[in-house]
Amino acid sequence: MCGIVGFTGHHQAAPILLEALSKLEYRGYDSAGVAVRDGEKPTEVVKATGKLINLSQKIDGGRTLHGCCGIGHTRWATHGEPSEVNAHPHVSGNCSGTGSGQVESEVVAVHNGIIENYQELSEKLQKNGYRFYSRTDSEVVVKLIDYYYRKYKMGPIDAINRTLVRVRGTYALCVMFKDYPDEIYVARKDAPIIVGTAEGESYVASDVPAILSYTRKVYYIDNLELARIAPGEVHFYDLNGDEVEKEPVDVPFSEEAARKDGFEHFMMKEIHEQPKVVRDTLHSVVKDGKIALEIPDDVLENIEQLYIVACGSAYHAGMVGQYVIEDLAGVPVRVELASEFRYRKMKLNKKALVVVISQSGETADTLAALRLAKEKGLPVAAIVNVVGSSIAREADYVFYTVAGPEIAVATTKAYSAQLISMYILAIKLALLNHSIDDAAPLLSELETLPSKIEEILKEKERIQWFAAKFAHIRDAFFLGRGIDYAASMEGSLKMKEISYIHSESYAAGEMKHGTISLIEDQTLVIGINTQKELFEKTLSNLVETRSRGAYIAAITQSGCYSIEDNVNFTVYIPRINELFSASLTVIPMQLLGYYMAVARGLDVDKPRNLAKSVTVE
Ligand code: GLU
Repeated sequence: MCGIVGFTGHHQAAPILLEALSKLEYRGYDSAGVAVRDGEKPTEVVKATGKLINLSQKIDGGRTLHGCCGIGHTRWATHGEPSEVNAHPHVSGNCSGTGSGQVESEVVAVHNGIIENYQELSEKLQKNGYRFYSRTDSEVVVKLIDYYYRKYKMGPIDAINRTLVRVRGTYALCVMFKDYPDEIYVARKDAPIIVGTAEGESYVASDVPAILSYTRKVYYIDNLELARIAPGEVHFYDLNGDEVEKEPVDVPFSEEAARKDGFEHFMMKEIHEQPKVVRDTLHSVVKDGKIALEIPDDVLENIEQLYIVACGSAYHAGMVGQYVIEDLAGVPVRVELASEFRYRKMKLNKKALVVVISQSGETADTLAALRLAKEKGLPVAAIVNVVGSSIAREADYVFYTVAGPEIAVATTKAYSAQLISMYILAIKLALLNHSIDDAAPLLSELETLPSKIEEILKEKERIQWFAAKFAHIRDAFFLGRGIDYAASMEGSLKMKEISYIHSESYAAGEMKHGTISLIEDQTLVIGINTQKELFEKTLSNLVETRSRGAYIAAITQSGCYSIEDNVNFTVYIPRINELFSASLTVIPMQLLGYYMAVARGLDVDKPRNLAKSVTVE
């Protein structure tokens, strides 16, 4: 969701805060703000709605704000409309107008997340004389910290700790106190925030790429932990206020990896990284023909049921996994949306393994589902991309996808890496329960994926041409059966999330039970048809829509040329074992969504209303 940054050191804070915030833009936001302080002088707060450039222009790229300590925020509104007064930072005192300007408040803070009991706390604070100027839940936290700070006079750590035990919800907080000019206090619960240090300076950010150009030495803060940050030093505390020892982690990826490498958009760069990501993820667990997972064999051997729980594209990867695992290993699989699973009162099979999938490892719903599963005594394996993320730390076993930092909001390479993890899990399960004797033929088939993806990428101009022709459309339907249906879900999401064209994926056989009434002259239908056994059936469904006026683009395996007589446009993927076809069919669908969005002049990497990692419920 939103982005938080902080800096204290010997350089001017404002330009650093702006740069770090720009690295978090991909997470999605509607307004931004910074608070900078220069020793004992009053803190300067500046906020602006819309893009970061509006904030940057207000402070001349940071040059008009003086001081070496500050915090910054990009807001993704949950409570209170996107507006300057609701933008963060928020202050403990009263403020007039929009909230920008010099403030004498004791406490100034930024918050990411949701405070569920903010109304109740706000009433209590109002009885104690506090007045609220914004409509946010966040202002309540700032004022509550101030309240405890003044009441008990036991310093910032004590005041924050007392606040944390009173608030319900999720938060990452970055707080400055008037009496502690060079210091920043940080706390978190179920929302990401990290700290970095480098020669005499310290940084805070929602995630690592924001501060990679300054340092690679990073500390991960645990849930319900606090940090006190001074120039070049950081101390950690638990809820009792006792100091906690923590070692820094050297971040393995460089800032270069988070740049665009000459591509117009991060999304295109990331689409092109897929051959490498697939290879790296595969080789991270397959060595000398053997699959080595962190999940012990005896855990996998004894399961009767697999629950795959995820959101968005990760859920779609799970859907592909369902078909592949059931087909190869014969283990029953249920794929659940994390936001539903966490509130379902279903009876879980005691001999089950729960697999949660999340790129960021911070997805709030998936994290809650993980905790629920653990509470019910089930082992949980996590498939995550971000090392050290909350889900990775809380799961019993982790399978890291090796996709590197993904910046575009619409996932591509992380999804492809998740597919590999699904295949590997399927093969491993199949070996353990003797559905197959030898993994070698399947593993060598997987080895061919990177070069086959490259082959498809070479043909991208054809998709670009096609997208330009259809960029004006209002609706699109993606149809397929089996694995093709699961893959079409991701294709459809790619199209709608970045091009804003309404699109739906449908199990091809289900179309006739309602949706076919939406087909009109020239409605675009994308048919994915790679499964030999289902080929004729899917083709018939496509023809049914064509006879009602649809324009059909088909994606099929090379060699299935008969399809050309029945559809308007065909994309061939190289031949592959049908179980792994989603890894190839998704590539033209990603390209289609991308080129449609470009043709419509849209902000491909940062689609409206969306955030990269969804850390709120
Ligand atoms: N709930 C807070 C608000 O609406 C924080 C939102 C965020 O995480 O950006 O201001």
